Amino acid sequence: MKNVLLIFIDGLGLGSEDPDVNPLVRFDPPVFRRLFGGALTRERGLILDDAASLVPTDATLGVAGLPQSATGQTALFTGVNAAAALKGHVAGFPGPALAGIIAEHGVMAELAAEGFRVTSANMYTPRYQELVDGRKRRHSASTLTILGAGAELRSVALLEAGEAVFQDITNEMLPGMGVEGVPPVAPAEAGKRLASLAARYHFTLFEYFQTDRAGHKRDWAVAEKIAATLDGFLEAVLAGRHADTLVAVTSDHGNFEDLSVKTHTANRVPTILAGPGCRKAAEGIRDLTDIKPALTAYIREGEQG
Ligand SMILES: [Zn+2]
Repeated sequence: MKNVLLIFIDGLGLGSEDPDVNPLVRFDPPVFRRLFGGALTRERGLILDDAASLVPTDATLGVAGLPQSATGQTALFTGVNAAAALKGHVAGFPGPALAGIIAEHGVMAELAAEGFRVTSANMYTPRYQELVDGRKRRHSASTLTILGAGAELRSVALLEAGEAVFQDITNEMLPGMGVEGVPPVAPAEAGKRLASLAARYHFTLFEYFQTDRAGHKRDWAVAEKIAATLDGFLEAVLAGRHADTLVAVTSDHGNFEDLSVKTHTANRVPTILAGPGCRKAAEGIRDLTDIKPALTAYIREGEQG
């Protein structure tokens, strides 16, 4: 069964080789050096390879201004140029127009309608649901993509059973979010769990957004921890992935790679593809709207063999 694990990392761009601004250079997570022969910066360029490919991916979508989350994630998860459709980059959470695009073109709903099994690996806290129910927060584009497919938001019970991963990867933020008693998990164990979960579905989404937060705060101490967490996590995902799993790691816009500014950046974002079909998938990607068709094409190939 050909399947895809999409790891969405919010606010991760390809920056410069300057360790004074780029935590991916200062802390240099070994996983990227092993995959691509150097730090994850724009200097790596386009790498088309059968083991692991890297596509510097345009997140500006031909629209002026800095790319933002609502339109960037919608483009990523629908293949529609949402920034062009709304005539500008939209921050934060989707309004009705973007929600409509996601409802019509969301990658998970589309695959589910074709009979493929889709899931979100993220655990959502009970407090999250309360806030949404009380209209105190709106769903992100990623959550709308999940809910639009009728997929469940994984519970604390599933996290405790090793059948989900929290958005911080390690569970360390859980007590501060009203969830007590769940032991922390090493990034490598979380990665192993995610890889194992993904093997049972045609399409699995995992979202991580601490990168974007650290970027906005320009927080070097947190950035160091994030670099180490992502290293252990991604290395374990790649080591633990099923032979038929195509792993994709990408982002909606730059931010974390330049801590000299607190805003997003216009940098290209890294689309990392590893596993079977990774070179072919990489060859079709130029900007955020190309990722959905590249990934769904791989999944559909599995039905034609
Ligand atoms: Zn942001």
